[in-house]
Amino acid sequence: AGTYTGKVAFVTGAGSGIGRATAIAFAKAGASVTAVDISEKGLQETAALIEAFGGRVLTIPCDVTSSKGIKAALDKTVATFGGLDCAFNNAGIEQPVNKLKDIDEDLWDRVLAVNLKSVYLCMKHQIDIMLTNGGGAIVNTSSGAGVLAIQGQSAYCASKYGVTAISKCAALEHASQGIRVNALCPGIIDTDMISRFTGDTEQGRARVIAQEPIGRMGRPEEIANTVLWLCSEQAGFVTGHAMVIDGGQTAG
Ligand code: NAD
Repeated sequence: AGTYTGKVAFVTGAGSGIGRATAIAFAKAGASVTAVDISEKGLQETAALIEAFGGRVLTIPCDVTSSKGIKAALDKTVATFGGLDCAFNNAGIEQPVNKLKDIDEDLWDRVLAVNLKSVYLCMKHQIDIMLTNGGGAIVNTSSGAGVLAIQGQSAYCASKYGVTAISKCAALEHASQGIRVNALCPGIIDTDMISRFTGDTEQGRARVIAQEPIGRMGRPEEIANTVLWLCSEQAGFVTGHAMVIDGGQTAG
């Protein structure tokens, strides 16, 4: 039996990149996994990868900015799998590089809604379920941009600093009730998001890699491993933490 046999994990942004790798890792470790994403195609691909090794997965297409949609997805998770032990609130979007003064208001609102409001909505409903189930663990995807400012990324940074902040607030509010909440702050991880950012050219990738002390980008699986650890009993005393995983990029 895997470490997560009998456990239920809920993952958003599971149709690609970090979320997909984490959904797969939870399923490989024995968990029943609810995979949520706005992309049905992405979800189908993730489900096929999990089903290929006999893992249990429930796919739910949903826009994470919808409170109704998120509540329905969580209710369906509990109805299907009998509970909720771990949540990885990870769906997110990037912003085009632009100075704050030039950011379009609609773009500002969308980045804040997808990256930050969604985490509030997810936690709001997840904590209610976990309180009646005797506890649980939540990990929210912040970013290196959720602890350090980046030029041209004010909407993204605002959303991710927000994720770091509300993860810590929720951790304090429920620490005594068996619910741990942590923020994960990845550096540059090799996903579709980074391909869009670099224009997916060798030159663009090389420019990003040149900033990496380790000399490469991180792999989605390396973030997934950390999420599983943070949700496990081994991390039982870890809560309210913003964990930077960036190959040393911001170490000095
Ligand atoms: P990705 O683009 O590969 O995956 C993001 C997924 O989120 C996609 O499947 C997308 O369809 C989904 N999504 C977007 N908007 C959604 C919505 N409204 N509702 C539901 N699903 C939605 O990117 P990724 O790199 O895997 O990013 C995952 C998370 O990690 C994001 O929050 C991102 O900001 C964060 N992050 C990524 C990096 C990196 O270098 N890749 C670094 C730091 C933080």
